[in-house]
Amino acid sequence: METELIRVDPREPDQGVIEKAGRILRDGGLVAFPTETVYGLGGNGLDAASSAKIYRAKGRPSDNPLIIHIARMQDLDRVAAQVPEAARILARAFWPGPLTMIFPKAREVPYETTGGLESVAVRMPDHPVALALIRAAGGFVAAPSANRSGRPSPTLAAHVAEDLGGGIDLILDGGMVGIGLESTIVDLTGPTPMILRPGAVSRKMLRAHIKEVEMDPGLEEGEESKTPPKAPGMRYRHYAPQAPLMIVEGERMDVASYINRSIREKGQQAGILACAENVGLYPDGLVKCIGSREKEETIALHLYQALREFDQEDVTCIYSEAFDTPRMGHAIMNRLLKAAGHQVVKVSEGGDIPAN
Ligand code: AMP
Ligand code: MG
Repeated sequence: METELIRVDPREPDQGVIEKAGRILRDGGLVAFPTETVYGLGGNGLDAASSAKIYRAKGRPSDNPLIIHIARMQDLDRVAAQVPEAARILARAFWPGPLTMIFPKAREVPYETTGGLESVAVRMPDHPVALALIRAAGGFVAAPSANRSGRPSPTLAAHVAEDLGGGIDLILDGGMVGIGLESTIVDLTGPTPMILRPGAVSRKMLRAHIKEVEMDPGLEEGEESKTPPKAPGMRYRHYAPQAPLMIVEGERMDVASYINRSIREKGQQAGILACAENVGLYPDGLVKCIGSREKEETIALHLYQALREFDQEDVTCIYSEAFDTPRMGHAIMNRLLKAAGHQVVKVSEGGDIPAN
């Protein structure tokens, strides 16, 4: 299959291009498109065969459900069997935006879209191209991130082409996404709303609108957790670069001296992920500046791209600083920890270097 790539203006996409893309989706094809979080791989969410195609194109396990993207508030009630008041409040506050909510599914939603679950994930993205495409497609676009399963999510159309070129009908290139990390997922099927995946909408932001929001206990404890995460996608190893990645936590000078000493003592060809404030602290290794702690959105935005870039470089290992920034830190560290397979060292002054 040949994959067409068409550039679109991210603010005012050409209506002819949108109609062409919408027709592909209505005919059961696949179109990758930009959203404010990451690029999505869209199919018709109410069509079982389209959803099955998405899984095949990504190489995604079929029990890992898709998110249905809508463009109008009233369409929520078509795909969700029950919508609690808390969800309406959150939808009014955060849609369109980087918030996905889980509901009991309506009968019309095929199990192929929900990975066999009785629940359905729904989001209204905040991107003119995504919204126009969803409308042109008939209102319900199932879309996971447009990467091959296990790769970092795409933040540029070129990442989509790299992973899925030849396997899908069309890529709409709307330039770089706005946020760079996937949406926050909140489960509204239980007695208390529960965060299943952290994202740009933080717990604090949610609690400004509804009293109670819990955090899925399976999220916090890492690999050795006894309770598996509730969101199926959070159980898979994800975002992993080819070279092993190690997160180094501690005071900035301790982190730098630990990384520098490790590289020298082991004679490694190392990659280093650092913030703008610290890049000058690393004389050896291939240093990638992913953003500034002063502007933490820049760290979120460049994380996946940096992980992809290391796969093109001749490095045998990667060290990363920890990025526990005030607002986005929870979401950033959630993804970074998964990419590192939870390999973390905490250093203090004069700390020893482990043998591995
Ligand atoms: P992606 O868009 O690739 O980030 O994938 C969507 C993610 O949403 C999945 O990996 C799941 O973790 C989560 N998700 C989708 N539907 C449900 C659901 N019904 N219940 C729980 N989590 C869901
Ligand atoms: Mg994904």
